[in-house]
Amino acid sequence: MISLRVQVDPFPIDEPLVVRLQESGTEARSQHDATLIDVEGDRREYNFQGFSFVVRTSPEESVDGDVLLVLPGQTSAHRLIRASSRHNTLLVTEQCDQLCVMCSQPPKKYHADLFEQFTIAASLAPQDAMVGISGGEPLLHKKRLFEMLSRVAVERPDIRFHILTNGQHFEPSDAETIFELGRERILWGVPLYSAHPPTHDHIVGKEGAFAQLERGLVTLMRAGASVELRTVVLQQNCNDLPDLATFINTRLGFISVWALMQLERIGFGRMNWKFSFQDTSTEFEQIGRAVDITTARGIRTSLYNFPLCSVPAEYRDFAPSTISDWKRKYLDFCTDCRARETCGGFFQWYSHDEGFAALGPL
Ligand code: SF4
Repeated sequence: MISLRVQVDPFPIDEPLVVRLQESGTEARSQHDATLIDVEGDRREYNFQGFSFVVRTSPEESVDGDVLLVLPGQTSAHRLIRASSRHNTLLVTEQCDQLCVMCSQPPKKYHADLFEQFTIAASLAPQDAMVGISGGEPLLHKKRLFEMLSRVAVERPDIRFHILTNGQHFEPSDAETIFELGRERILWGVPLYSAHPPTHDHIVGKEGAFAQLERGLVTLMRAGASVELRTVVLQQNCNDLPDLATFINTRLGFISVWALMQLERIGFGRMNWKFSFQDTSTEFEQIGRAVDITTARGIRTSLYNFPLCSVPAEYRDFAPSTISDWKRKYLDFCTDCRARETCGGFFQWYSHDEGFAALGPL
C-alpha cells in the first residue's frame, strides 16, 4: 500500500508547517518550497529557507512536488498532496453529526483546525489538480471551509474540489457563496440511501436527516451546483434502489451523476459487514433495475468500487476504476484477468473470506 506519510528528521517548529518538496532547480518557487540539495540512500536533504530539512523515503519513490504537513514534535509528515497521484484528499475534520452504519472514518469528538495549512497545501497542488475534501463532516466548519475555497479560487483558479458532505448544513443563504465558488470548480458528493425517509434516517443514524437533506439539496440546486449523489449499496437499502431511482428521476433531475457504491470494509463498515454487505456478484437485479430507470431518463449513473467481475457484462461500462491508488489491491485470481487494466480491484481491507461469492478472471 502506498504510504500517506513520510519520515522526516526532527525539525524545530512550534506551529504546523506546510512544505512542498522541489527536486528541479535550486531556486524555491515560493516560501513553502524546499529545494533538493543532496540524496544518499533513503535520505534526501532539502534547503528550506536556509535550513536543512531531511526526508527519508525509498529511493524508488518519487516525492517531487509533494506537499507535506509537518506537525511539531513529530517525525513523520502527512503527504497532503502527492504530485504524481490523482487521489489527494484533505481530511479537514473528524467530527460528524451522523453515525452511518457503514462509515469508513468513524467520527471523533475533537477538532484540530488546520484550514490555514490545507489552504496553503491546495494552493501548492499541481496544475489543474482535483483535490478531495472529506471528514467527518466538512460543513460543520462551513465558515472556515468557504473561506478556504474562496482563497484558493483567487490564488489558484485552476484547482477543482470534490467535497464529501452529508448535506445537513446548507442554508438557503449559502446559495450565493456556492454559486460564486463555481459549478465547474466544485463537485459536491452528497449521500442519499433511500427514497423512504425512515430507511435513510436509520442508515445514517439520525432522525430527521432525510428531511434536512432534501432542504440541503434544494439549496444546491438553486445555487446551480454540481452534485454527485452517492448511494452505498447495503442489505438495508438494496430492495429500495428502484424506488430511489424513480425518486431521483422525478425530484433530483439536476444532479450531475448518481453513484451507486460498494461497501468499504473498514471502520463501522467492517463492524457491520455481516449485516450490511450486499453481495452484488450473486444478486444484481435491483441495482440493474435502478440503473435502467435513471439512465432511461438520461441521468448519468455509475457503479463505484465494484470489481468488474462482480457486475453482469451488460453493466460493466457503468463501473469505472474508482478505488484510490493508495488503498487498492488485486487478488491472486486477478493475475490472469484480461480486464485488470480497467478494473478498480478491491480495497486493501477487503477480505475475500467474507466477501463476494462469485468472482473470477474475465
Ligand atoms: S478478476 Fe480481478 S481484475 Fe478481473 S475483473 Fe475480477 S476483480 Fe477485476
